[in-house]
Amino acid sequence: MTKHLWKIFGGLKLPGFKSMSMSQATETAPISKILTLPLKQHIGHAAEPIVKVGDTVLKGQMIAAAKDYVSTPIHAPTSGRIIAIEERLVPHPSGIAADCIILEADGKDKWIECSENSNYRQLDASELRNIIRDAGIVGLGGAGFPSFIKLNPGPNNTIETLILNGAECEPFITCDAMLMQEQSRKIIDGLNIMRHALQVNRCIIAVEDNKRAAHTMLVNALQEHEAEYIDVIQIPTLYPAGGEKQLIKTLTGKEVPSNGLPINIGVVCHNVATAAAVATAVLEGKPLISRYVTVTGEGVEHPRNLDVLIGTPFSELVELCGRNSKAEQFIMGGPMMGFEVTSDHIPVVKTSNCILVQRKNSEPDFVMPCIRCGQCADVCPAQLLPQQLYWYARAKNFDKTQDYNLFDCIECGCCTYVCPSHIPLVQYFRFAKTEIWTQEQEKKSSDIARQRHEFRQFRMERKKAENEERKKQKRELLKKVSGEKDNGEDAKKAAIEAAMARVKAKRKTQSITPANTDNLTEKQKEKIAEVESARKKAKEES
Ligand code: SF4
Ligand code: SF4
Repeated sequence: MTKHLWKIFGGLKLPGFKSMSMSQATETAPISKILTLPLKQHIGHAAEPIVKVGDTVLKGQMIAAAKDYVSTPIHAPTSGRIIAIEERLVPHPSGIAADCIILEADGKDKWIECSENSNYRQLDASELRNIIRDAGIVGLGGAGFPSFIKLNPGPNNTIETLILNGAECEPFITCDAMLMQEQSRKIIDGLNIMRHALQVNRCIIAVEDNKRAAHTMLVNALQEHEAEYIDVIQIPTLYPAGGEKQLIKTLTGKEVPSNGLPINIGVVCHNVATAAAVATAVLEGKPLISRYVTVTGEGVEHPRNLDVLIGTPFSELVELCGRNSKAEQFIMGGPMMGFEVTSDHIPVVKTSNCILVQRKNSEPDFVMPCIRCGQCADVCPAQLLPQQLYWYARAKNFDKTQDYNLFDCIECGCCTYVCPSHIPLVQYFRFAKTEIWTQEQEKKSSDIARQRHEFRQFRMERKKAENEERKKQKRELLKKVSGEKDNGEDAKKAAIEAAMARVKAKRKTQSITPANTDNLTEKQKEKIAEVESARKKAKEES
């Protein structure tokens, strides 16, 4: 359909190099014998292993659970045995190692039991979000943000427009274009599920105007009633038109505020591959364990798209596509926003959209001083002043870089691309951001340490006071008990004395000579008196 589009600032027309990997249908890559599954494949906290070495697992079984709200679980991409949980090299610009679960495939590829939800409309938004979270779905466009969070706008935000981003604007990358061509219905199913979760009326699928096949397939896949609320819109092929903020501007004319989020202006944006993963998770009950990956560049004989299990080594995919002598450098992502990895012995992760294999540039560009030509500012889609940012980043004046909105930089690399002085501007901006984050992290850590120390002091003092109070109460109790004891002793003494007096009196009574004189006859009484008189007399005489 024809629709009014808004123009974005800056941007570049770049050579695409896309056709080379789109000449054949996507092929499913063979299951690797060993799959390496990093615990952190997303923005947020790393997942926590819930299996141990030696455990056998089924395909789709959760093997690491989300550790926090901003975190997602990891699932076994095939059935097999856990053979290690240890640090391995992961895709990262610094070439670091990180904790991974290592799975040895058993070749059976046996699925765990899956719960399908064919009628997802019976589920409410939170039930859908839980399914999407438990399926480990993150933004597959490269960002890796947990998708269920973006489907929870909160009580204070109303979402008017849901956008699916199919504008794959970086050169060489074609995995989304192939997915739109081959799995258009699944993408629309995912969009419908997201629409239901967000309760949105208006949906847009954005496709670049040079991807006609993808556009046609999507339009054809729309059911009649869906065409009433879903627009498949072609946007100009311009780099970086697929950047989230740029795409929203192009389609709606709205600007996402500086340091703000699309949600703040009533828009939610997801990648087309994320939508397909949502459909698989909700309708089939299957978690995210594979993705489309473009393997391309002059270093492979047969560039193409592969459907790859997460955890598969880059090296096996490069071999599959015909590694040649030019395979010297490996980039994850595209040439503009991707990063070079130090080895191809690293695994495909959820955010691996492309492996670009090429020659290493043996003669690095000679960097010259800035001539203040202003070309970098002319192409900056975020309307920043890259030369000023460069100046302050280089001087490590990070406060100033923030004054110049460093964090609005989307690291598209347009400024670097046009700079006649060959200044690696975007690298300075990445460096400045990392330094600021590190400083903030250190400050946060020291604040936490200080709070812990203060709390410990408080606890010790409170314990001391409690001990003192306890001792005091004990002393008082003892005093009271001993007072009662004294009173008790007196009573006891008095009782003993009284008993002794009674015994004494009794004894006294008992010492009187008994006389059985009751009921005697007069005669008997006279006799007794006579005897008594005689006894008395005898006693007196003795
Ligand atoms: S393009 Fe390069 S030389 Fe020109 S102003 Fe920007 S940083 Fe300076
Ligand atoms: S890398 Fe950042 S500063 Fe450079 S053009 Fe892109 S958004 Fe602008």
